[in-house]
Amino acid sequence: TGLVVAMDGPSGSGKSSVSRGVARGLGLRYLDTGAMYRAMTWWMLRQGVDLDDPGAIGARCGEPLIVCGTDPDGPAIHVDGIDVAGPIRQAEVTGAVSAVAAVPEVRARLVALQREVIGSGGIVVEGRDIGTVVCPGAEVKIYLTASAEARAQRRSAELAGSTVQAQQEAMARRDTLDTTRKTDPLSMADGAVELDTTAMSLDEVIAEVLRLVAE
Ligand code: C5P
Repeated sequence: TGLVVAMDGPSGSGKSSVSRGVARGLGLRYLDTGAMYRAMTWWMLRQGVDLDDPGAIGARCGEPLIVCGTDPDGPAIHVDGIDVAGPIRQAEVTGAVSAVAAVPEVRARLVALQREVIGSGGIVVEGRDIGTVVCPGAEVKIYLTASAEARAQRRSAELAGSTVQAQQEAMARRDTLDTTRKTDPLSMADGAVELDTTAMSLDEVIAEVLRLVAE
């Protein structure tokens, strides 16, 4: 079976850029599992599902058809045939995604979908539970970290009109929700290599991951 690189870590750690760069460098596919949780959240918001009601979320999470592409140069995501690559990055979705991702039925469905896409491998998979839950057998497991300030800075550079301070607060809130939830909380996998990217450039991080893959 083909290589699986599991790339986990909190938001703003550089996971997406690093994962795509590594996939490109190795000619592998790329899967953004966070985009799937965002797509599910986008659909729930659009349907008017009460996001304070985990029972309601769990009861309806089997309805949307979520299709996620694997091209590192243009990751596509569709819900019921609608292109949601733009909408899933909006603040409304970002603010609600942790609540949806905490529902066990949602995780069960999306983990199954992720395993289908991973198939026999040849892929870099980005998320929070890839090395622990989705693909514990992955040949290479990376856990990216960075200081809270560096992470907030990277995010606010991506999102015009938001201050570093506001980003840091929103991110801290999401990280707390993600790391304290009951189902598969964010944690580092056994055998994962921790990479602190605070003082590293994107190219340096990609080079380091490629070196770890080659080991
Ligand atoms: O990586 P990204 O910021 O797009 O992830 C959005 C949210 O999806 C995270 O805050 C987390 O709640 C959830 N998530 C998850 N498990 C994953 C990937 C993302 O719970 N493997």
